[in-house]
Amino acid sequence: MIPASFDYHAPATIAEAVALLAQHAGSAKVLSGGQSLLPLLKLRLGVAEHLVDIGRIPGLDHLEERDGFLVIGAGVREAALEESPIIAARYPILIDTARVIADPLVRNRATVCGNIAHGDPGNDHPATMIALGARVVMVGPRGERVAPIETFFKGLFSTALEPDEILTELRIPTPPPGSGGAYLKLERKVGDYATAAAAVQLSLGADGKVSRAGIALTNVGPTPVHCTAAQAHLVGQAPTDAVLVEASKLAAGAASPNPDRRGSSQYKKEVARVLTERALRQALARAKGQ
Ligand code: FAD
Repeated sequence: MIPASFDYHAPATIAEAVALLAQHAGSAKVLSGGQSLLPLLKLRLGVAEHLVDIGRIPGLDHLEERDGFLVIGAGVREAALEESPIIAARYPILIDTARVIADPLVRNRATVCGNIAHGDPGNDHPATMIALGARVVMVGPRGERVAPIETFFKGLFSTALEPDEILTELRIPTPPPGSGGAYLKLERKVGDYATAAAAVQLSLGADGKVSRAGIALTNVGPTPVHCTAAQAHLVGQAPTDAVLVEASKLAAGAASPNPDRRGSSQYKKEVARVLTERALRQALARAKGQ
């Protein structure tokens, strides 16, 4: 299908891009990898009179550890996560996540920040970023602000981004030694959105007890589901079988999925429980260096 006509802008800097968004407030959209926005425009499920392409702005594709954070710039594509030795060494949950997104063609274009900015509860990175305790950097005409990811998702396709703001970076705290994470997803076929998926990031203290737990679920609510009760159940505990099983039940209890072609609400909650338990075990094994 062919989208409705729009004006295309190719700013050379973030400041220029922000100025364009402010100038065309309400009728402009940021265009990044285009892997969600262009299908929406082509299907006429969305309209934009102006597209502000940030994909041609130099210097946005940084993927590096800096000042205690892994920093993911707005230009970093999904495929870059799969290829990065830093990610392989310390953030395996990000490789788990990138590998189950669509297919290599999409991952060569889609950006990690776009996956967050889109605000789709079916997208895979939001739950992973919540589990990792990421921070979101947003730049607009009023300057830069940084927000914890758990405050970023406001509703279905609705985020904390103002229409004239750009998500410029994700900052993930570098996990301490003794940490591990995992992302597990059930999909109907390769490349599909999740029936349900679970993201888990654990840190163990010197005593072997859980010192930090991050848990979130994909596609079982209008936003990614942050499983705070499950996290609280784990912290300060030795990660025994009984503790992991109870945490998984608490995580599934936080889900509120709608029934659809991927299954009933009850089925999706059960999938969330099973995947959380498996992700907890995998994260624990990785935290122990196994
Ligand atoms: P775009 O499509 O360019 O933009 C998406 C939205 O976010 C737009 O509203 C845009 O204005 C806004 N936006 C983008 N970047 C910024 C920014 N830096 N600042 C402010 N606003 C911004 N995703 C999954 O998670 N899991 C899947 O299994 C999956 N399967 C897919 C299968 C197919 C066939 C396709 C085409 C896509 C699939 N996706 C999937 C979606 C895709 O991976 C993400 O939505 C994509 O990563 C979004 O990033 P983008 O750079 O392409 O954003």
